[in-house]
Amino acid sequence: MTTIEDANFALQKVLDAGSQKNVIELAWIKNVRVTIPRVIVTLSLPSFANSQRDRIVQEVRSVLLDFEDIDDVQIEIDNNPSKTESQNQSNAPELQKIDGIRHIIAVSSGKGGVGKSTIAVNLACSLAKLGLKTGLLDADIYGPNTPSMMGVAEQNPKVTEGSGSDQRLIPINKYGISLVSMGFLIEEGQPVIWRGPMLNSIIRQFLYQVEWNNLDFLVIDLPPGTGDAQISLSQSVPISGAIVVTTPQQVSLQDARRGLAMFKQLGVPLLGIVENMSVFIPPDMPSKKYEIFGKGGGQTLAKENDLPLLAQIPIEIPLVDDSNKGVPISISQPNKESSVVFGNLAQLILSLIHISEPTRLLSISYAVLCLKK
Ligand code: ADP
Repeated sequence: MTTIEDANFALQKVLDAGSQKNVIELAWIKNVRVTIPRVIVTLSLPSFANSQRDRIVQEVRSVLLDFEDIDDVQIEIDNNPSKTESQNQSNAPELQKIDGIRHIIAVSSGKGGVGKSTIAVNLACSLAKLGLKTGLLDADIYGPNTPSMMGVAEQNPKVTEGSGSDQRLIPINKYGISLVSMGFLIEEGQPVIWRGPMLNSIIRQFLYQVEWNNLDFLVIDLPPGTGDAQISLSQSVPISGAIVVTTPQQVSLQDARRGLAMFKQLGVPLLGIVENMSVFIPPDMPSKKYEIFGKGGGQTLAKENDLPLLAQIPIEIPLVDDSNKGVPISISQPNKESSVVFGNLAQLILSLIHISEPTRLLSISYAVLCLKK
Protein backbone atom coordinates (compact mmCIF):
# COMPACT_ATOMS: atom_id res chain seq x y z
CA MET A 1 0.00 0.00 0.00
CA THR A 2 1.39 3.42 -0.97
CA THR A 3 2.56 5.48 2.01
CA ILE A 4 3.36 9.17 2.46
CA GLU A 5 7.06 8.25 2.31
CA ASP A 6 6.52 6.47 -1.04
CA ALA A 7 4.67 9.51 -2.39
CA ASN A 8 7.38 11.91 -1.18
CA PHE A 9 10.06 9.69 -2.70
CA ALA A 10 8.26 9.58 -6.06
CA LEU A 11 7.76 13.35 -6.02
CA GLN A 12 11.53 13.80 -6.00
CA LYS A 13 11.41 13.08 -9.72
CA VAL A 14 9.73 16.45 -10.29
CA LEU A 15 12.42 19.08 -10.83
CA ASP A 16 12.68 22.86 -10.93
CA ALA A 17 13.75 23.70 -14.49
CA GLY A 18 16.22 26.32 -13.25
CA SER A 19 18.11 24.77 -10.34
CA GLN A 20 17.38 21.13 -11.26
CA LYS A 21 16.54 20.59 -7.58
CA ASN A 22 13.46 18.56 -6.81
CA VAL A 23 10.20 19.98 -5.49
CA ILE A 24 10.50 18.17 -2.13
CA GLU A 25 14.00 19.50 -1.52
CA LEU A 26 12.81 23.00 -2.44
CA ALA A 27 9.75 22.61 -0.18
CA TRP A 28 7.50 23.52 -3.07
CA ILE A 29 5.27 20.53 -2.18
CA LYS A 30 3.77 20.50 1.28
CA ASN A 31 1.20 18.48 3.21
CA VAL A 32 1.27 15.19 1.34
CA ARG A 33 -1.74 13.19 2.53
CA VAL A 34 -2.44 9.65 1.35
CA THR A 35 -5.88 8.10 1.79
CA ILE A 36 -5.98 5.26 -0.69
CA PRO A 37 -6.98 5.63 -3.51
CA ARG A 38 -6.47 9.38 -3.16
CA VAL A 39 -3.43 11.60 -2.62
CA ILE A 40 -3.77 15.26 -1.72
CA VAL A 41 -0.77 17.59 -1.94
CA THR A 42 -0.28 21.34 -1.56
CA LEU A 43 1.81 23.12 -4.16
CA SER A 44 3.48 26.26 -2.82
CA LEU A 45 5.62 27.91 -5.48
CA PRO A 46 7.72 31.05 -5.06
CA SER A 47 6.53 33.70 -7.51
CA PHE A 48 9.55 33.39 -9.75
CA ALA A 49 8.61 29.76 -10.41
CA ASN A 50 4.97 30.45 -11.30
CA SER A 51 5.67 30.03 -14.98
CA GLN A 52 6.45 26.36 -14.29
CA ARG A 53 3.21 25.71 -12.44
CA ASP A 54 1.28 23.90 -15.18
CA ARG A 55 4.16 21.56 -15.93
CA ILE A 56 4.82 20.82 -12.27
CA VAL A 57 1.13 20.09 -11.63
CA GLN A 58 1.10 17.71 -14.59
CA GLU A 59 4.27 15.89 -13.47
CA VAL A 60 3.14 15.63 -9.83
CA ARG A 61 -0.12 14.10 -11.01
CA SER A 62 1.67 11.73 -13.33
CA VAL A 63 4.24 10.37 -10.81
CA LEU A 64 1.53 9.80 -8.20
CA LEU A 65 -0.85 8.09 -10.61
CA ASP A 66 1.95 5.62 -11.37
CA PHE A 67 1.16 3.90 -8.05
CA GLU A 68 -1.25 1.06 -8.72
CA ASP A 69 -3.48 1.83 -5.76
CA ILE A 70 -3.76 5.58 -6.47
CA ASP A 71 -6.34 6.81 -8.95
CA ASP A 72 -7.13 10.29 -7.66
CA VAL A 73 -4.59 13.09 -7.17
CA GLN A 74 -5.78 16.40 -5.77
CA ILE A 75 -3.41 19.34 -5.93
CA GLU A 76 -4.17 22.34 -3.78
CA ILE A 77 -2.45 25.53 -4.85
CA ASP A 78 -1.16 27.61 -1.95
CA ASN A 79 -2.38 31.07 -2.88
CA ASN A 80 -1.41 32.56 0.44
CA PRO A 81 2.31 32.98 0.25
CA SER A 82 4.19 33.56 3.46
CA LYS A 83 3.70 36.80 5.36
CA THR A 84 6.93 38.28 4.06
CA GLU A 85 5.94 37.84 0.45
CA SER A 86 2.46 39.27 0.82
CA GLN A 87 3.89 42.20 2.72
CA ASN A 88 6.27 42.82 -0.15
CA GLN A 89 3.37 42.87 -2.56
CA SER A 90 0.80 44.95 -0.78
CA ASN A 91 2.29 47.06 1.98
CA ALA A 92 5.60 47.95 0.43
CA PRO A 93 6.38 51.63 0.21
CA GLU A 94 5.75 52.99 -3.28
CA LEU A 95 9.42 53.09 -4.15
CA GLN A 96 11.50 50.47 -2.43
CA LYS A 97 15.23 50.45 -2.98
CA ILE A 98 16.89 47.12 -3.66
CA ASP A 99 19.45 46.50 -0.95
CA GLY A 100 22.98 46.87 -2.28
CA ILE A 101 22.03 48.39 -5.67
CA ARG A 102 23.16 51.96 -6.11
CA HIS A 103 21.76 52.92 -9.49
CA ILE A 104 19.16 51.50 -11.82
CA ILE A 105 19.25 52.43 -15.49
CA ALA A 106 16.23 51.47 -17.59
CA VAL A 107 16.73 50.93 -21.32
CA SER A 108 13.48 51.25 -23.22
CA SER A 109 12.12 51.70 -26.72
CA GLY A 110 8.80 52.50 -28.28
CA LYS A 111 8.85 49.37 -30.41
CA GLY A 112 10.76 46.12 -30.81
CA GLY A 113 13.68 45.48 -33.12
CA VAL A 114 15.38 48.86 -32.71
CA GLY A 115 18.34 47.38 -30.83
CA LYS A 116 17.27 47.98 -27.23
CA SER A 117 18.68 44.67 -25.95
CA THR A 118 21.90 45.12 -27.92
CA ILE A 119 22.33 48.49 -26.25
CA ALA A 120 21.43 47.22 -22.76
CA VAL A 121 23.95 44.36 -23.08
CA ASN A 122 26.78 46.50 -24.44
CA LEU A 123 26.11 49.30 -21.98
CA ALA A 124 26.30 46.78 -19.13
CA CYS A 125 29.58 45.39 -20.55
CA SER A 126 31.01 48.90 -20.93
CA LEU A 127 30.09 49.80 -17.35
CA ALA A 128 31.69 46.56 -16.15
CA LYS A 129 34.80 47.36 -18.17
CA LEU A 130 35.04 50.60 -16.21
CA GLY A 131 35.42 48.49 -13.09
CA LEU A 132 31.86 49.05 -11.92
CA LYS A 133 29.89 46.18 -10.42
CA THR A 134 27.13 45.74 -12.94
CA GLY A 135 23.98 43.67 -13.22
CA LEU A 136 21.67 43.16 -16.17
CA LEU A 137 18.00 42.39 -15.74
CA ASP A 138 16.34 41.31 -18.96
CA ALA A 139 12.69 42.07 -18.35
CA ASP A 140 11.76 41.84 -22.04
CA ILE A 141 9.18 39.14 -21.65
CA TYR A 142 8.32 39.14 -25.35
CA GLY A 143 11.87 38.63 -26.59
CA PRO A 144 14.22 37.80 -23.72
CA ASN A 145 17.32 37.36 -25.83
CA THR A 146 20.10 38.66 -23.58
CA PRO A 147 21.06 35.10 -22.47
CA SER A 148 21.92 34.21 -26.07
CA MET A 149 23.64 37.58 -26.64
CA MET A 150 25.76 36.85 -23.54
CA GLY A 151 26.41 33.22 -24.49
CA VAL A 152 24.57 31.72 -21.50
CA ALA A 153 21.34 30.57 -23.12
CA GLU A 154 22.04 26.97 -22.09
CA GLN A 155 22.62 27.79 -18.43
CA ASN A 156 20.02 27.61 -15.71
CA PRO A 157 20.20 29.98 -12.76
CA LYS A 158 20.29 28.32 -9.35
CA VAL A 159 18.24 29.21 -6.33
CA THR A 160 19.49 29.73 -2.81
CA GLU A 161 18.80 27.31 0.03
CA GLY A 162 15.53 27.71 1.87
CA SER A 163 11.98 27.33 0.74
CA GLY A 164 9.11 29.24 -0.82
CA SER A 165 9.37 33.00 -0.70
CA ASP A 166 12.65 32.91 1.26
CA GLN A 167 14.44 31.57 -1.77
CA ARG A 168 16.47 33.87 -3.99
CA LEU A 169 17.41 33.43 -7.61
CA ILE A 170 21.19 33.50 -8.16
CA PRO A 171 22.16 35.49 -11.27
CA ILE A 172 24.38 33.95 -13.93
CA ASN A 173 27.78 35.60 -14.06
CA LYS A 174 29.31 36.34 -17.45
CA TYR A 175 31.80 38.97 -18.62
CA GLY A 176 31.73 40.33 -15.06
CA ILE A 177 27.99 40.94 -15.25
CA SER A 178 25.30 39.42 -13.03
CA LEU A 179 22.53 38.44 -15.41
CA VAL A 180 18.94 37.48 -14.76
CA SER A 181 16.54 37.12 -17.66
CA MET A 182 12.90 36.33 -18.17
CA GLY A 183 14.32 33.91 -20.71
CA PHE A 184 15.56 31.72 -17.84
CA LEU A 185 12.10 31.51 -16.32
CA ILE A 186 9.80 31.23 -19.28
CA GLU A 187 9.37 27.69 -20.45
CA GLU A 188 10.13 27.18 -24.09
CA GLY A 189 7.03 27.12 -26.24
CA GLN A 190 4.90 28.90 -23.66
CA PRO A 191 2.39 31.03 -25.55
CA VAL A 192 3.25 34.73 -25.55
CA ILE A 193 -0.33 35.58 -24.58
CA TRP A 194 0.30 34.16 -21.07
CA ARG A 195 3.36 36.25 -20.54
CA GLY A 196 1.79 39.72 -20.09
CA PRO A 197 -0.28 38.89 -16.99
CA MET A 198 2.59 36.80 -15.62
CA LEU A 199 4.92 39.75 -15.90
CA ASN A 200 2.85 41.84 -13.52
CA SER A 201 3.14 39.30 -10.78
CA ILE A 202 6.84 38.61 -11.17
CA ILE A 203 8.45 41.95 -11.90
CA ARG A 204 8.76 42.76 -8.19
CA GLN A 205 10.13 39.31 -7.43
CA PHE A 206 12.63 39.85 -10.21
CA LEU A 207 13.79 42.96 -8.45
CA TYR A 208 13.64 41.84 -4.84
CA GLN A 209 14.00 38.05 -4.91
CA VAL A 210 17.30 37.91 -6.75
CA GLU A 211 20.62 37.63 -4.97
CA TRP A 212 22.03 40.74 -6.67
CA ASN A 213 24.57 41.43 -3.92
CA ASN A 214 26.28 44.81 -4.22
CA LEU A 215 25.99 46.51 -7.59
CA ASP A 216 26.98 49.97 -8.75
CA PHE A 217 24.59 49.68 -11.68
CA LEU A 218 21.67 47.49 -12.58
CA VAL A 219 20.78 47.91 -16.26
CA ILE A 220 17.21 46.86 -17.02
CA ASP A 221 16.24 45.85 -20.53
CA LEU A 222 12.53 46.65 -20.61
CA PRO A 223 10.00 45.15 -23.00
CA PRO A 224 9.18 47.50 -25.89
CA GLY A 225 6.26 49.87 -25.62
CA THR A 226 4.45 51.46 -22.74
CA GLY A 227 2.92 48.53 -20.94
CA ASP A 228 2.66 46.96 -17.52
CA ALA A 229 6.38 46.24 -17.12
CA GLN A 230 7.35 49.88 -17.38
CA ILE A 231 4.61 50.91 -14.99
CA SER A 232 5.30 48.11 -12.46
CA LEU A 233 8.98 48.89 -12.53
CA SER A 234 8.61 52.65 -12.23
CA GLN A 235 6.24 52.25 -9.30
CA SER A 236 8.48 49.75 -7.51
CA VAL A 237 12.06 50.97 -7.49
CA PRO A 238 13.70 54.36 -7.68
CA ILE A 239 15.16 54.52 -11.20
CA SER A 240 18.21 56.73 -11.55
CA GLY A 241 17.48 57.32 -15.19
CA ALA A 242 15.86 55.94 -18.32
CA ILE A 243 17.33 55.84 -21.81
CA VAL A 244 15.02 55.79 -24.80
CA VAL A 245 16.32 54.02 -27.90
CA THR A 246 15.18 54.99 -31.36
CA THR A 247 16.34 54.62 -34.95
CA PRO A 248 16.92 57.56 -37.32
CA GLN A 249 13.69 57.17 -39.30
CA GLN A 250 11.03 59.77 -38.62
CA VAL A 251 8.38 57.01 -38.54
CA SER A 252 9.89 55.37 -35.50
CA LEU A 253 9.66 58.60 -33.52
CA GLN A 254 5.96 58.33 -32.78
CA ASP A 255 6.52 55.19 -30.69
CA ALA A 256 9.52 56.69 -28.94
CA ARG A 257 7.48 59.82 -28.11
CA ARG A 258 4.89 57.68 -26.36
CA GLY A 259 7.65 56.04 -24.29
CA LEU A 260 9.10 59.39 -23.30
CA ALA A 261 5.69 60.75 -22.34
CA MET A 262 5.06 57.69 -20.17
CA PHE A 263 8.31 58.08 -18.22
CA LYS A 264 7.59 61.76 -17.69
CA GLN A 265 4.12 60.94 -16.42
CA LEU A 266 5.54 58.33 -14.06
CA GLY A 267 8.13 60.78 -12.78
CA VAL A 268 11.11 58.73 -13.95
CA PRO A 269 14.17 60.89 -14.68
CA LEU A 270 15.22 60.71 -18.33
CA LEU A 271 18.92 60.54 -19.12
CA GLY A 272 18.56 61.01 -22.85
CA ILE A 273 18.11 59.45 -26.26
CA VAL A 274 20.26 56.79 -27.92
CA GLU A 275 19.95 56.58 -31.69
CA ASN A 276 20.78 53.13 -33.02
CA MET A 277 21.56 52.15 -36.61
CA SER A 278 22.55 55.75 -37.38
CA VAL A 279 24.88 54.84 -40.24
CA PHE A 280 26.02 51.63 -41.90
CA ILE A 281 29.78 51.06 -41.85
CA PRO A 282 30.78 48.55 -44.58
CA PRO A 283 33.37 46.11 -43.24
CA ASP A 284 35.55 46.46 -46.35
CA MET A 285 35.44 50.28 -46.35
CA PRO A 286 35.25 51.40 -42.72
CA SER A 287 35.90 55.02 -43.71
CA LYS A 288 32.56 55.12 -45.55
CA LYS A 289 29.28 55.66 -43.74
CA TYR A 290 25.84 55.25 -45.27
CA GLU A 291 22.68 56.68 -43.75
CA ILE A 292 20.53 53.81 -44.90
CA PHE A 293 17.70 54.53 -42.47
CA GLY A 294 17.62 58.27 -43.05
CA LYS A 295 18.82 60.71 -40.46
CA GLY A 296 17.86 63.08 -37.70
CA GLY A 297 15.44 60.94 -35.67
CA GLY A 298 17.47 60.90 -32.49
CA GLN A 299 18.32 64.58 -32.73
CA THR A 300 14.68 65.55 -33.33
CA LEU A 301 13.50 63.55 -30.35
CA ALA A 302 16.25 64.94 -28.11
CA LYS A 303 15.48 68.56 -29.11
CA GLU A 304 11.73 68.16 -28.70
CA ASN A 305 12.23 66.93 -25.14
CA ASP A 306 15.19 69.06 -24.19
CA LEU A 307 17.29 65.96 -23.60
CA PRO A 308 20.80 65.05 -24.72
CA LEU A 309 21.38 62.73 -27.66
CA LEU A 310 23.67 60.42 -25.70
CA ALA A 311 24.97 58.23 -28.51
CA GLN A 312 24.62 57.36 -32.18
CA ILE A 313 25.46 53.74 -32.76
CA PRO A 314 26.43 52.60 -36.25
CA ILE A 315 25.34 49.39 -37.93
CA GLU A 316 28.33 47.07 -37.99
CA ILE A 317 28.22 43.47 -39.13
CA PRO A 318 30.30 42.11 -36.22
CA LEU A 319 27.70 43.60 -33.88
CA VAL A 320 25.25 41.00 -35.17
CA ASP A 321 27.74 38.18 -35.80
CA ASP A 322 29.45 38.32 -32.41
CA SER A 323 26.15 38.79 -30.62
CA ASN A 324 24.87 35.65 -32.36
CA LYS A 325 27.99 33.87 -31.06
CA GLY A 326 27.22 35.02 -27.53
CA VAL A 327 29.92 37.68 -27.23
CA PRO A 328 28.86 41.33 -27.15
CA ILE A 329 30.97 43.50 -29.47
CA SER A 330 32.24 45.62 -26.55
CA ILE A 331 33.99 42.48 -25.33
CA SER A 332 34.95 40.80 -28.61
CA GLN A 333 36.09 43.85 -30.60
CA PRO A 334 36.66 46.80 -28.28
CA ASN A 335 38.21 48.92 -31.03
CA LYS A 336 35.23 48.80 -33.40
CA GLU A 337 33.40 52.09 -33.69
CA SER A 338 30.25 50.83 -31.99
CA SER A 339 32.30 49.55 -29.02
CA VAL A 340 33.91 52.96 -28.65
CA VAL A 341 30.47 54.61 -28.80
CA PHE A 342 29.17 52.20 -26.13
CA GLY A 343 32.19 53.02 -23.96
CA ASN A 344 31.51 56.75 -24.33
CA LEU A 345 27.86 56.15 -23.51
CA ALA A 346 28.86 54.44 -20.26
CA GLN A 347 31.14 57.38 -19.42
CA LEU A 348 28.37 59.86 -20.15
CA ILE A 349 25.97 58.00 -17.93
CA LEU A 350 28.51 58.07 -15.13
CA SER A 351 28.85 61.79 -15.48
CA LEU A 352 25.08 62.34 -15.59
CA ILE A 353 24.51 60.29 -12.46
CA HIS A 354 26.00 61.25 -9.19
CA ILE A 355 28.64 58.70 -8.24
CA SER A 356 30.94 58.51 -5.29
CA GLU A 357 34.44 59.94 -5.43
CA PRO A 358 36.53 56.71 -5.62
CA THR A 359 34.41 55.34 -8.47
CA ARG A 360 34.44 58.67 -10.27
CA LEU A 361 38.21 58.83 -9.99
CA LEU A 362 38.45 55.31 -11.38
CA SER A 363 36.29 56.20 -14.36
CA ILE A 364 38.08 59.46 -15.01
CA SER A 365 41.46 57.70 -15.03
CA TYR A 366 40.01 55.11 -17.40
CA ALA A 367 38.75 57.88 -19.71
CA VAL A 368 42.19 59.51 -19.68
CA LEU A 369 43.76 56.15 -20.51
CA CYS A 370 41.38 55.71 -23.48
CA LEU A 371 42.18 59.20 -24.75
CA LYS A 372 45.89 58.43 -24.62
CA LYS A 373 45.50 55.28 -26.73
P1 ADP B 1 15.23 44.94 -29.56
O1 ADP B 1 15.75 44.60 -28.19
O2 ADP B 1 14.93 46.41 -29.70
O3 ADP B 1 14.11 44.08 -30.02
P2 ADP B 1 17.71 43.77 -30.55
O4 ADP B 1 18.76 44.39 -29.70
O5 ADP B 1 17.27 42.37 -30.21
O6 ADP B 1 16.42 44.71 -30.61
O7 ADP B 1 18.20 43.87 -32.04
C1 ADP B 1 17.47 43.33 -33.11
C2 ADP B 1 18.46 42.80 -34.14
O8 ADP B 1 19.19 43.87 -34.72
C3 ADP B 1 19.47 41.85 -33.55
O9 ADP B 1 19.73 40.83 -34.50
C4 ADP B 1 20.71 42.71 -33.37
O10 ADP B 1 21.93 41.95 -33.46
C5 ADP B 1 20.59 43.66 -34.54
N1 ADP B 1 21.19 44.98 -34.25
C6 ADP B 1 20.83 45.83 -33.28
N2 ADP B 1 21.59 46.94 -33.32
C7 ADP B 1 22.47 46.77 -34.34
C8 ADP B 1 23.54 47.57 -34.91
N3 ADP B 1 23.82 48.78 -34.43
N4 ADP B 1 24.23 47.04 -35.93
C9 ADP B 1 23.93 45.83 -36.45
N5 ADP B 1 22.93 45.05 -35.96
C10 ADP B 1 22.21 45.51 -34.94
